[in-house]
Formats: sequence, structure tokens, C-alpha cells
Amino acid sequence: MTDGRDARSLARAYLEQQRELGTDEVVLPRPSSGAPASTESPHLRAGSGKPEVPAPSMTPGASPGPTRDETPGPMPPAGISYDPPAGDLFSKDPLREAATLTAVATLIASCKKCRLCETRNLTVPGEGAENARLVVVGEGPGRTEDETGRPFVGQAGDLLTKILAAIELPREQVYICNIVKCRPPENRTPQYDEVASCLPYLWRQIELVRPKVILAMGGTAAQSLLDAKSALGAMRNRIHRFRGIPVVVTYHPAALLRNPNWKKPTWDDVRFARRLLDT
Ligand code: URA
Ligand code: SF4
Repeated sequence: MTDGRDARSLARAYLEQQRELGTDEVVLPRPSSGAPASTESPHLRAGSGKPEVPAPSMTPGASPGPTRDETPGPMPPAGISYDPPAGDLFSKDPLREAATLTAVATLIASCKKCRLCETRNLTVPGEGAENARLVVVGEGPGRTEDETGRPFVGQAGDLLTKILAAIELPREQVYICNIVKCRPPENRTPQYDEVASCLPYLWRQIELVRPKVILAMGGTAAQSLLDAKSALGAMRNRIHRFRGIPVVVTYHPAALLRNPNWKKPTWDDVRFARRLLDT
């Protein structure tokens, strides 16, 4: 009862019933063998925790689940998608399995999850130390980044290098990356769906680096990472948290190039980040 095929047909029954009943009450068919009646769960309700569908690979020696190109059973009526492109509930997520930053970068290199893949030249996953104590997050690659595959290497990048030097952090000791890993055409702001498609890569990168502090540069970085809508100015000067990690918000270096009045506040922000690193 724990192989992939049964899990799949249970999931199908579950979704079918949800659609047909129009309620959140779902009754899963009793396993045809093995499980005694007393294990039948009284709380199989959609929305009240996970339905007790066995995962495909939990029993040692269980037969492997069906592969993607196996001939499917009778198709359900139109209206429900059972196989989203990113895999289903029971397949393994390659991003979760990526155990190093290099493995994440390899996934990004072939990513086609949003339209930015159509116009990019090179993907720009990020670079720096695997064990960095500071992660810097920008918005997205610009022209030079798109041509070289490296983050923050244009004019804004030079300024970032100087900002980091000012708090005695050599660039190589930091992990530098962006919200989206492919250049938006004409350097436009990445759109909401592009950010949503790309964010899981950043989450995984942060999970692997486990920094002490995150520096979010610019409104897009701050709002996307913190899932907030506030203006940048309102987000400065306070400690935010991303999964418990302190996040400091400041101006984007490209904005500083346009508006030198923001340099002083930016310096204050990065010194604040430095203090958090030192505590
Ligand atoms: N370069 C990057 O890599 N990211 C930015 O946000 C700006 C320039
Ligand atoms: Fe994939 Fe991100 Fe590039 Fe979109 S921007 S194609 S989600 S790597």
C-alpha cells in the first residue's frame, strides 16, 4: 500500500472528491490490504492537515513509483491538473536535494521557469564564500552580469565592492546574489511572477550558506525577501528577519550612483549590518 502507484491513485481520488462534493470533507478509500481497520483516521479532511496518503518511498523495499512516461490509467474529466510541471506531491524536489551552491547553480543554468530565460545570455546564480557570514541580495543581473554570469560586476558592482571594503569585508568573504537569476530585458524591474518563480533558488542558497546577517539592497530585494510591500525608506533602520536571520535593508548601489545623497544613509546601514555581524 505504500508504493507510488497507490499514492497516486489515492491522491486522484482525493482531488476528484474535493471537486465533486464541493466541500472540504474528503473520504479516502480504505487500503485494500494490510492496514487494519483501527488505523482508519477520523480526521481525513482537506484543510485540516495533510491527508494520510503514504509517501512513495517510505517503505524499504517498496516497489518504485511510476515514472513520468508510464502509461497513465483512465484519465479523469477535464478541469483538474494532476501533474504540475514542477512535479507532484510525491516526487522529489531537485532544489531541496541540491546540497551545495554549485548544485543550485547547475539547476539555475537550465531553468526555464519564467520568461526571463528567453532573453538571458548567461544565468547569474551568485558567487562568494559557501560559509559567508553576510549574504548580499540585489535585484537582478544587468548587462555586464548577463554577459559574464557574475553578480554585481558592472558599475554598481564596483560601488558594492567599495561599500563592503568600508566595513572591512573583502568581497570574496561575502555571498553575493540577486532575487532573479536572469537579466530582465532593458534592466526593467522583475515582475511579480518572475520573482515568485525564482525565489526558491534564493531561499535554498540562504539555507546552504546560513549567514549571520542578510543585506537586502533596494526595494525589490527587500520586499521580495521579506514578502512586504512597504517602501524602502520605511524598511530601513530596523532589523527584519528572514527565517530568524537578521535582515538589514538599504539602498541599491545603482540608485546611489544616480543619487549621491543616499550614500551617507547607506553607509549608516552597512555599518549597522557590520555591528550585527560583530555581536
Ligand atoms: N548587478 C547585480 O548583480 N544586481 C543588481 O541588482 C544590480 C547590478
Ligand atoms: Fe529560472 Fe529565475 Fe531565470 Fe526565471 S529568472 S528563468 S525562474 S532562473
